[in-house]
Amino acid sequence: MGISAMVFWVFALGIGSGQAEQKPSITVLVYNYANVSAANLAAGEALATRSYRAAGIEISWIECAVSARKSQRFRECEQAIGKHWLFLRIITERMASGIVPGSKGREDALGIALVSHAFVLYERIVDRANAWGLAESVILGHTMAHELGHLLLGDYSHTASGVMQPLVHRQDLKLESGQFLFEPKQATKLRARLRGE
Ligand SMILES: [Zn+2]
Repeated sequence: MGISAMVFWVFALGIGSGQAEQKPSITVLVYNYANVSAANLAAGEALATRSYRAAGIEISWIECAVSARKSQRFRECEQAIGKHWLFLRIITERMASGIVPGSKGREDALGIALVSHAFVLYERIVDRANAWGLAESVILGHTMAHELGHLLLGDYSHTASGVMQPLVHRQDLKLESGQFLFEPKQATKLRARLRGE
């Protein structure tokens, strides 16, 4: 066992912290079919991480290969498949046309959530970013956090304010607006679900 694996287990078992209560965490497997730049993807992930961290939840992102040719570069994902259930798929408009949300699906203008798969429609994000004069990563991060929220919170998870609003407005995309955050009640529900309560 390497040092990093040992450190992982020490924290996973709560030995190092001396705390009985472990901070809930999720691991998201990311499929970048839309070829989002590494910088934009990292910036989007950082914003979504911030939304969840504010709710007391840590996110790990693992990038996965979108073609067999590239799978050598994504060993971590190969090992993670089967251990985690949250998938984020950043897709093109052409791919989106093949996805029909079922009765449990949630459809939003910029993304779709289906059972354990959050789809982000990247061309729409680019269009929205251009129309509003904002960085793509801001809208990407908000959409990622929102669609993953649907997977974690289940049906009827829209709220009047915060990151789970059904429609996002330009003024919501300022970090100081508070609209990147989960409503406190929802944050409590999220943590409870992730602890299996
Ligand atoms: Zn929604």
